[in-house]
Amino acid sequence: MLGWTDAEDFLQGLKAVGIAPEQLKAILLTHWHNDHSAGAAFLKRKFDVPVYYGAGDEPFLTRQTATQGIRGWLGKHVPEEGVLVLLRGLLEEAAPEAVSANHLVIDGEIIEGCFRVLATPGHTGGHAAFVHEPTRSLFCGDALAVVANRLRLMARPVTPDLPAARASALRCLREEVEFICPGHRGPLVENVREECLQLGKYLEGGGRWPLLG
Ligand SMILES: [Zn+2]
Repeated sequence: MLGWTDAEDFLQGLKAVGIAPEQLKAILLTHWHNDHSAGAAFLKRKFDVPVYYGAGDEPFLTRQTATQGIRGWLGKHVPEEGVLVLLRGLLEEAAPEAVSANHLVIDGEIIEGCFRVLATPGHTGGHAAFVHEPTRSLFCGDALAVVANRLRLMARPVTPDLPAARASALRCLREEVEFICPGHRGPLVENVREECLQLGKYLEGGGRWPLLG
């Protein structure tokens, strides 16, 4: 089983694309959910790199929100496996290990010289997306989803603020990027403009947020 809190899954991913972990320059977190942030504290410590994330998610990433009692106990005992890793975080209401930000990102700013920040609340209060300007690639976290080469949305039960999520998704769709790299599954690399236009029209037309994404 690949670990999350020890970033084993992330390090295996780097290896798969031929990047040495020593080349790591910074950690950009889109949001606090365990399945996106669990290894950040370990990576920050081991490779001494700066961490960036949105202020709205800071209490969760620094574990100020961590639940105590039976819920917290249960959360700690959920195995870090598959979708369970998210359940673990949701039960605990915090990342498994506190990670402080070197910089709290602000909408519109450029970080690390090449990533533009898009504040994209909805899925979480401090969710942020990042546009890699040199390649016009959008790292959208869970503000959008990609399933079978189609743009989708995250499921309604994991979208606590639907109006904000709708506005954030539309913001992402209007970026006119070349590639979309979501927080789950593979990137969208073909028909990106068409997919953005289509989902944008649906949302602008008042289309319902799909129950299952
Ligand atoms: Zn999430």
